[in-house]
Amino acid sequence: MRPVRELARLLLPVACPCGELDVPWCAGCAALLTGPPIRAEHGAPRLDRLDGVPPVPVWALTPYAGPVRDVVVHWKDRGRADLDRLLAPALRRAAARIGPVLSPALGGAPIAIVPVPSTGAARRARGREPVAVLARAVARGLHDAGLPARVVPALARRGAGRDQVGLGARARGRNLAGSVRMTRPGARALGQRSMCILVDDVLTTGATLAAVERALEGSGHDVLGATVLAATPPPARTAGDDTAFAVERQRESGQNLKV
Ligand SMILES: [Zn+2]
Repeated sequence: MRPVRELARLLLPVACPCGELDVPWCAGCAALLTGPPIRAEHGAPRLDRLDGVPPVPVWALTPYAGPVRDVVVHWKDRGRADLDRLLAPALRRAAARIGPVLSPALGGAPIAIVPVPSTGAARRARGREPVAVLARAVARGLHDAGLPARVVPALARRGAGRDQVGLGARARGRNLAGSVRMTRPGARALGQRSMCILVDDVLTTGATLAAVERALEGSGHDVLGATVLAATPPPARTAGDDTAFAVERQRESGQNLKV
């Protein structure tokens, strides 16, 4: 008779998204998510505001490269919701490290954690909203750092917004112009003027975050920063060495973020 484990594998093969068998995620992939958060806004051209105000700070857990890409794709679009248990604790730990950096700007005010809304099509295809899991993790991490934070899903995509997959930077910007709106319950929950932290899965050009930032600031709220799982390395680096990129970002983060 075959061992039970082998039978179970025939029914339900288990593998890390990178390909390593018999584990839901491997030690190598998990290790990519344990570093201090890195500042990523300067690699996202669409976050440039052109009004003299510096781009909103974005903290990323890791560069969107190598096996991290596989992990995120399987988690979002290939039914691997079980990876919540890898990604959420990692982002929670990162948020706890960001807490002390945010604290002086808050003066004790509560923080609204605002998830970047998916398109209706993406939500229907996935049957869930993966970013909501990340938003809860960020709120818990900020709580761990002693900051009052609550998740406020205040925004929705306007109907015409296409999913971003496969669109170039310019097309993404056009696709997103005015594509995010405040929902009525969201506006009520945020009140007059809230301090907001945005949460998304991957930072690419920054067009999505910029649209969200505009929607919130246009309604009188302050966006203090954003946290994402992973950030696409700047274009000049994608052909080069991801490790060198990571090391450089970690060094920058050491200067920008006292963790
Ligand atoms: Zn792996």
